[in-house]
Amino acid sequence: LDSPFKEATAVLERIEQNGHEAYFVGGCVRDHLLDRKIRDVDIATSATPQFVQNIFDKVIPVGIEHGTVIVRHLDTSYEVTTFRIDGTYSDSRHPDHVAFINKIDKDLERRDFTINAMAMNKQGQIIDLYHGREDLNKRIIRTVGDGYERFKEDPLRMVRAVRFASQLGFTLDIETKNQIRSLNKEINTVAVERIAVEMEKFFAGDYISEAMKELKTTELFNNLPVFKYQPSLINLLPAEQTPLHSLAEMFAFFHFLYPQISVNTWIKEWKASNQSKRNTIKLVEAVTEFRNNGLENWIVYQLPSDLYAGFIRVLTALSEHAIPTLQEMRTIVSGLPIENRQELEIDGNDLIKLFPDVTKGPWMQKLLNQVEYLVVMRKLTNKKEKIREWLKWNPPEVN
Ligand code: ATP
Ligand code: MG
Repeated sequence: LDSPFKEATAVLERIEQNGHEAYFVGGCVRDHLLDRKIRDVDIATSATPQFVQNIFDKVIPVGIEHGTVIVRHLDTSYEVTTFRIDGTYSDSRHPDHVAFINKIDKDLERRDFTINAMAMNKQGQIIDLYHGREDLNKRIIRTVGDGYERFKEDPLRMVRAVRFASQLGFTLDIETKNQIRSLNKEINTVAVERIAVEMEKFFAGDYISEAMKELKTTELFNNLPVFKYQPSLINLLPAEQTPLHSLAEMFAFFHFLYPQISVNTWIKEWKASNQSKRNTIKLVEAVTEFRNNGLENWIVYQLPSDLYAGFIRVLTALSEHAIPTLQEMRTIVSGLPIENRQELEIDGNDLIKLFPDVTKGPWMQKLLNQVEYLVVMRKLTNKKEKIREWLKWNPPEVN
């Protein structure tokens, strides 16, 4: 086996040497058989979490009650999960209880889709009890067992189905699709945070345009947060969807597609993190500026450089004209007169000295903002004398 399995084999061997079974399992086996880039190597074992903790030096107990620990080996993290069967999902978040078992068969049976229900030993032999390889060849997403039961058990699996369609370019098995269509409303019972994780991956998929059709025809779409109150929104979607790589990009895109829904509504309804919220706001500001004035210094100055690619994707998704390249944005940012406000040659103290009769107040921030903007836009030179001169002609407005 090649990398990354080669490195991970040591983990399987350690478990086996201690008398237990261990396999690579789930997404990594699927992606290996598809020759896709493998992200994380997950491991399933007959050993209990406690046992695993005892035989490895570096273990992080991330979800002991669900049987999962992270084993660190050669600077890589491996999720090692004890074979288990799941109880009911009464809160549609986690199974209420799980039972550890010592055979992998039942563990594979609890998994969502046939393509995700394969295991592989260290020799590269595949355990495939549900015809996962056949479905990989047919490029089909099909539930393990009766879809109706499996989707009722955990409705998130319906969103996961279209998420994998988007990532892999697979189609939904006809029965699986009909089952989703008949159960789509059940998605309302699932914690929004779980849906958001899957939708983020859905929108980032290479086959998003095709998968979007599945999301519409199964009517899962109009049962999702925000969309369920604004069904007309779906009709505004372009025929070709540009992949978007984060919730922030998604929210920014939908906000411009349908400005009646505020950024705050998106954030609240999707229970997005503060980080997502900050990024959404920055992207929305940048797109607004771009629509008004094209790509100018101020946009690249204001936007954190790790959002440049996302900004371009949002513009592309909105079919804007004259969309800049990453290279163009980088060239502009490297030629900016200042990198941040601290580099301005004046600060609050200078303002106080210049206008000793005016009491401190919000006017100071306002003036500094103006100066910052003018300097970034090269309408004012970042030199103390030049700025002082400008301030004389533009004194604080006080009443
Ligand atoms: P990715 O490469 O995008 O992480 P993945 O297949 O690893 O894809 P995960 O969400 O990380 O997907 O889940 C890991 C594995 O756990 C899946 O392959 C599947 O076998 C199982 N699994 C995850 N979520 C569920 C679920 N809700 N119901 C049943 N099985 C699940
Ligand atoms: Mg995974």
